[in-house]
Amino acid sequence: MPIPALLWCSLTYRTFTTSVLTMLLSVWLLISIPANLIPLPELPDPLRSLDSLRLGIALMALCPLTVASINAARVELIERLSRAANHDSLTGALSRGAFIERSEACLQANRDQGTALLMLDIDHFKNINDRFGHAGGDAMLKEFVVLISRLLRPADLFGRMGGEEFAVVLPGLDMIAATSVAERIRQALEMRAIEMPSGGEVWATVSIGVATRAPGEYTDFDDMMLAADRALYEAKEAGRNMVRVGARQPEATSPTLN
Ligand code: GH3
Ligand code: MG
Ligand code: MG
Repeated sequence: MPIPALLWCSLTYRTFTTSVLTMLLSVWLLISIPANLIPLPELPDPLRSLDSLRLGIALMALCPLTVASINAARVELIERLSRAANHDSLTGALSRGAFIERSEACLQANRDQGTALLMLDIDHFKNINDRFGHAGGDAMLKEFVVLISRLLRPADLFGRMGGEEFAVVLPGLDMIAATSVAERIRQALEMRAIEMPSGGEVWATVSIGVATRAPGEYTDFDDMMLAADRALYEAKEAGRNMVRVGARQPEATSPTLN
């Protein structure tokens, strides 16, 4: 009877919890059966039957422990696979696909509040590759992601769109707040010397385009990306190491909101 319950525990709880529950049950059975606390049918050879009983309890304990271990390994593997599928392997930022998918869901879920999108592109990144090699460029990308991640909130989304181009979604922020976050990111990179694997340090800058969606406004994520991209292009044209805010999208009202 206890085996199905223990198997359920092994699939539901952590290995440690299952081990403790299994141990408690085994100890209780080992004490209560010889003490006749659990009525069993009359046994022909009580001594040999007791040995069989102990063996049976040991085997009973093995089942849930084996299932719990296999289940823990399976859960860990699924987590690792899911992380590999949704994150960029070099920097750990969200991959382009996962970022877009989560941003669309975030826009949908936050219809009643403002949302901002930042498009970031490291300036003259090719020069870093040329001077310090591809490994130097990779080190810069990794350090850039660490630096930006420290400035974001847990609910913000941060993705690598490709090469040295990144994007950030800031739920709940209006244009002024989002521009101030972008400016903090720009300054943080500007002031930080990044160590190169081949030795030496390099200073880099980033250009940032900002697009925002006001509360209740219906702008889909593609339109926001277009606006932020346009603003980023303007920042590059204006001399780089700048934050530019995208022109407001023409307002359209969602048919479902009325
Ligand atoms: P701009 O200021 O106009 O953005 O110029 P840029 O040099 O940053 O941009 P450009 O598009 O000319 O060069 C981007 C370079 O980024 C070219 C490409 O080889 C390099 N790159 C793309 N992905 C990676 C990567 O994963 N690692 C490294 N090290 N380099 C990369
Ligand atoms: Mg660039
Ligand atoms: Mg680029």
